[in-house]
Formats: sequence, C-alpha cells, structure tokens
Amino acid sequence: MIKEDTRADVRERPRIGVYALTSCYGCQLMMATVSDILEVANVFDIRCFYMVSSASTMDEEVDIAFVEGSVSTEKDLKEILEIRKNCKTLVAMGACAVHGGVQSWAEGNLSYDEIYEEVYGDDKIDMPGLQAAPISQYVHVDYSLPGCPPEEDEIMYFLTTFLVGSFPEQKDYPVCAECRTTGNPCILIESNVPCLGSVTTAGCGARCITFNVPCIGCRGPVPHNTAWFDALATVFKKRGFTEEFVRARLKIFAAHNKNLDKMLKKAFGGDK
Ligand code: SF4
Ligand code: SF4
Ligand code: SF4
Repeated sequence: MIKEDTRADVRERPRIGVYALTSCYGCQLMMATVSDILEVANVFDIRCFYMVSSASTMDEEVDIAFVEGSVSTEKDLKEILEIRKNCKTLVAMGACAVHGGVQSWAEGNLSYDEIYEEVYGDDKIDMPGLQAAPISQYVHVDYSLPGCPPEEDEIMYFLTTFLVGSFPEQKDYPVCAECRTTGNPCILIESNVPCLGSVTTAGCGARCITFNVPCIGCRGPVPHNTAWFDALATVFKKRGFTEEFVRARLKIFAAHNKNLDKMLKKAFGGDK
C-alpha cells in the first residue's frame, strides 16, 4: 500500500497520512477497519499509516493529515508542528485531538507537576511531558472529526467530500435530537440518570442511550458556543447532583471548553 508506485494515476491520487500523538490508537483502528478500506486505498495514496505499514514515514508531504491524540509530550508537539508543515489539510481525528480527550480531565484543577506526582510519584519518566491539550492549541486545524472514535460514516463522508473539493458540514445539534428521533425514553427525565446528551454533538445516533447507558459526552460539546452547560447543570442541581459531581462529569470530554467554568458558576453560584 505504501511502496513506491510509478503509475501516473497513482501519483495523481490525493496523498493521505494517518498519525498518532498521545492516544489509545482507537481512531486509527477505526480508520484501518472501515468496511471500504480497500476502496480508500484505491482512491487515495496512503503514504503514512504506522498501524498498517512499518514502511510509513512522517517526513513525506501529504494532502490530508489525519491526526489522532492530544499534545501531551514534547515529542507530540514536535511531531504536530512537523505534520502541519508537511500537509495541506489537517484533520483532527477524535476526542483526544479535537478536545484534549480524557487525559485533559484534570485541566483547571491540577497543574502538570501535580498530575505527574499523582500518577508517577517519585519515579522519573524519560519522555518530557506537557499538560494534555487539543492540537488546535498549537496548530491550525482545517477540519475536526469528533467522537471517541469518530463514526465510520463520518470518516467516509469526509473522504468523499474532499474528493469533490469540499468539506462536510459540521453537525451543530445535540445527541438529544437523535435520541428523540430514535424513540428512546429520556433517561434523564424519567429515571434521573445524569445524561449529557443535550450538550453533546450529535452523530452517534444516541448509541449509548439506546443501550440504556447515559451519554458522557464523548463527541464533545455542541459547536458554536451552543452547549448550554448552565441549563443542564441547573437541571442536574434540581435533581440532587452536587456541583463536584456535575463538574467532574462535564469535564470528562469538555475540560478545555472555555464556557464550561463560567456556566457552571452561573448554575451553582458559590455553592460547592
Ligand atoms: S479519541 Fe478515543 S478512540 Fe480516539 S485516540 Fe482518543 S481515546 Fe482513543
Ligand atoms: S436520554 Fe439523554 S440524550 Fe436522550 S433525550 Fe434524554 S438527555 Fe437527551
Ligand atoms: S451517546 Fe454520548 S457517550 Fe455515547 S457515543 Fe454518543 S456522544 Fe459518545
């Protein structure tokens, strides 16, 4: 797949690179296992994808760089700057890359040194670390694919729209919209289960709620500053959930959202 191919049609195919910063590799795995992966390999020239070929190299120029993971080490930072330099279009792939991921959970509560001590104690690690951050904190991102990992249909939709010179529209409505059209009962209203569907970007078809599991917000806050954390936190408060619980829950995948703290303050005032 990655070996040099001299056919003219191959040279004209858009070149793709798939890269990982600090992550669980789940987004790459999703990409490697899309059911149309052979079609993708025919239509695109996959130049870098370590999960599928050790012949991959980070140094090549590509048309689209898909990047999973947060910037959590100095090595990540060096790599994301290099990737940005070598690509025309940079796609942040998944919750870690787009929002900083669960590794950002302590953002705003603990400093890097405090987190380090909590995790490693007095042990030393070789890799100099950084406070986990979304890649947009360091480089320009052209498009974001939310999800943990992104949905297969969204990856394929992105690739096909790219071929016609465009980008897909970003979903700007919450999981609740999909939940209601799926016909689920609302587990927040009916069973007092702390579901984050109303502040979370749609696209998963309300998967968790369909299995009677509350949404924990893995697709990140609804874009354009329309994730009304204050309204949801007020509902949670009325239903007996503490500020500490609500804050921790909302921060799992939204720790870097600039509206979160001020909206929580609005909902809870000074009460802890
Ligand atoms: S977004 Fe989720 S699936 Fe993707 S790398 Fe991060 S933790 Fe793994
Ligand atoms: S169960 Fe969750 S996602 Fe579904 S309507 Fe209620 S709050 Fe929204
Ligand atoms: S329901 Fe929420 S937690 Fe579950 S997949 Fe969808 S966005 Fe993620």
